[in-house]
Amino acid sequence: MMQTNTRAIALTGGIGSGKSTVAKMFADMGVPVLDLDVVGRDMLASPTVQSALLDTFGSGIQNEQGGIDRKLLATQAFCDAKQTARLNAILHPEIVAFEQQWLKQQHAPYAIIEASVVLESGGISRMDALIVVLADKTLRKKRVLTRGKQDEAMFKQIIERQCDDDMRRKYANYILHNDSSLESLQQQVIQLSEQLMKESL
Ligand code: ADP
Repeated sequence: MMQTNTRAIALTGGIGSGKSTVAKMFADMGVPVLDLDVVGRDMLASPTVQSALLDTFGSGIQNEQGGIDRKLLATQAFCDAKQTARLNAILHPEIVAFEQQWLKQQHAPYAIIEASVVLESGGISRMDALIVVLADKTLRKKRVLTRGKQDEAMFKQIIERQCDDDMRRKYANYILHNDSSLESLQQQVIQLSEQLMKESL
């Protein structure tokens, strides 16, 4: 039997746009989904990554158990562009290797790679297409605050680190509009999944 590659469809959008909601809708339909933010987080448990991070950022990023404290690491790594580049140089190759391995193991016509910073990181060059979720910024803020994981200051900080929707639009092959109900979003996702399936066979 001929082996065809699973197409890598990136899924991105600003904080609170509804990316994770869309990813879950695809997953519920049986589409393989990989969240690169989670992969990056899990990498912090790898001994090789840990020692590289300690060499670069010092023991001040360690938690009481000797592991990496994500919050402390974030304060060190996001204080300036040079430090962020250092963090990326350590994590990036590991994340890419994991993603490529994961893709090889999939037996679906396409898979969704949820990646909040796929444009900022240059990861887009590895992807076959890009889905962008768009929603009005005020609505996004409201949803994020209701979600409760971040407060207003954190929302502002994250939005400043991310690129804007004009940039996302430029790279998008498919756009989902999440300014109204979850039902409307679900309808758009169903339609898009049918389109992606046709295009990927
Ligand atoms: P992201 O992953 O892009 O940060 P989420 O998918 O987590 O965003 O969505 C942010 C919050 O808004 C979540 O609590 C989610 O349940 C909610 N949400 C997303 N889309 C809608 C919508 N159309 N209507 C109401 N709430 C929504």
